[in-house]
This record gives sequence, structure tokens and C-alpha cells, in this order.
Amino acid sequence: MIFRELNRGKCKTYLIGSEREHVAVLVDPVREKLDRYLALLAYYGLKLDAAIDTHTHADHRTAVFDLKELTGANVIMHRKAPAPQVNVHVDDGDSIALGDLSIKVLYTPGHTPDGMSLHIEGRVLTGDTLLIRGTGRTDFQNGDPRQQYESIFGRLLNLPDATLVYPGHDYKGDTVSTIGEERAYNPRLQVKSVDEYVDLMNNLKLPNPKMMDVAVPANMKVGLAQEEIARRGWMLSAGQALALLGKPDIALIDLRERSERERHGTIPGSLHVPYPTLQESIRSGGMLHELAKSTSKRLLFYCAFGERSAMAVQAAQDAGLATACHIGGGLDAWKKASGPLVR
Ligand code: FE
Repeated sequence: MIFRELNRGKCKTYLIGSEREHVAVLVDPVREKLDRYLALLAYYGLKLDAAIDTHTHADHRTAVFDLKELTGANVIMHRKAPAPQVNVHVDDGDSIALGDLSIKVLYTPGHTPDGMSLHIEGRVLTGDTLLIRGTGRTDFQNGDPRQQYESIFGRLLNLPDATLVYPGHDYKGDTVSTIGEERAYNPRLQVKSVDEYVDLMNNLKLPNPKMMDVAVPANMKVGLAQEEIARRGWMLSAGQALALLGKPDIALIDLRERSERERHGTIPGSLHVPYPTLQESIRSGGMLHELAKSTSKRLLFYCAFGERSAMAVQAAQDAGLATACHIGGGLDAWKKASGPLVR
């Protein structure tokens, strides 16, 4: 196995490759170093299988989408990741194949809702969940200290003590630690309860990361947030949507990918319009455009958690489809409202 950290800076990018099969993945690549990554892959003769982000980053622009465009590599993120260009979503327990190697996904939210760690051969890449002698902040980007406690104490610290810890960031010049060392010496982990941890994390009083304002919207490609869509009256709750199920003037549009539909099921009677094909479908002459205009059906979009569908509503409204709305919270909320699913 080839394993290297490539940036030598505060933000860490890891190259994991199979010498035998000449394939590699890049984890958390940053946009400024794109040329360096491509040169390095060429130097080693490695084909890039995938670019993986451990979570939606606030402090740097990601290179995963550029890498996808330039090399055809897949972009892999957790299924809660909002960026619509992610083409492979993974979840806890999934394995990412890399030639003769296999990377195991651990869902470790808390810093962000889409945080995951990657476990491979005695190493764990912890993203911004567990840092060396620190933990990722939980005070913005929908962070949640309680979830983070669970991710660290319930997941990461269950790995063998000798497991090498490679964090997504380090501000002090450290490069590697171990699970055993962090359990013993990480000051944030010396708490007696989840409440104590929550208290600690809620009172850190950190300044915003320098690039947060630029990087989060760019990395999420967010048009309007779900709250804004709701404020404009373009959102139905899962309960409201449930009451409309089967009504002839409603067209349910599933924006998810085929793999998500297979894994989680679909709402009965919904049309499948994957998010990447949406633009084509809502412009004049497109399928959804015709459907909305000729039948006066109300377009009701949904996705996994309401992020893509919120953006789809904005796009459809921009295209003149004034009846477009979405299910707030997506299929996740639908399931919680006991909405029926078909597989
Ligand atoms: Fe982060």
C-alpha cells in the first residue's frame, strides 16, 4: 500500500494507493494543490479511482470536483453530503474498493452531519472528527457536540489502541497519533459524560475559520438553503406530502441516484429525475417542463434529506414552474412520518 500525506500544511490530503493494481484515491484534496496531485499520480503511474471528502469543508476549497472533471474519478462522500455533483454516496459500514485494498467507512458526524472516517489496514483517517489532541469544532455547519461524542467514544475509540490516527487538520505540526494515545492524552476526551463534552464544546469561543464564508457555499453549491425555500412557501412537510399522496394533481419527483433508490426505497408513484439531469428536464421542451405546463400538475421534489430538492425547487421556479415545491427533510422525514415506500 502507498500511503502519504501530500500537503505538509494545516489541511491534510492523503494519497492511498495500491502498488499492485496501480490505482489510488485522494482524501480531502484541496483546490490550490490540484496540479501537484495530478503530477504525483502521473509520477507514480497511479490511476485515480476516486476523490473522497471526509465531510463538506469550511476552511478550504475542495478539489474533488476538479479531479472528477479532469480524470473521470468518482467523487465519494457520505450520503448526507449536500453537493449535487457527488456521484457515489457511502454510508456506515460500506467498503470502498481500491484494487486489492479495501477502505471501510465509519459514519462519524458531529463536526458536520456528513462526517465520516476511513479505516484501512491499521490506520484511520478521522477527518475533522478526531484531531491530534483536539476535536473538530461543532459550532457551525450544523455541527452537533452530542453526535460528535458518540462518533468518538462510540466508534473511533473502539478501534484497537495501536490504530494510527491521521486527522484532516493539524494546526500544531503533528502528523500522526494513535487511538490509545488520544484516549489517554487528548484534553477534549478527558470528560466523564456526554453532557460534560457538550459543555466543553459549546464554550470554546472560536473565531470563524478564515475561509469559511467562501468555502462552504462553494463546496455545497447551495442556491437557497432549505429554510429560505420554506420561508417562500415552497416546502411541504412530510405529513402534508403524505396527505397528498395519490392525488392526481401532484407529480412526485425523486431526485436521488439509482443506488440510493435501491437502498432506501422510493415513494410510490414517483418519477425518477436524477438531480444531474434536472436542468435538461425543467427547461422548455423538457419532460418536467411539459408535465407542469400541460397538465398543471404540481411538481413535488424530494431527495434524501431535502438539500438537493431545495435547490431543485429554486431551479424550477427560476425556469418558470411556479407550482414547484419539495418535501422538507426529504425521504428521511418521510420515513419518520411513516410514509409508505416501495422497493
Ligand atoms: Fe472541517
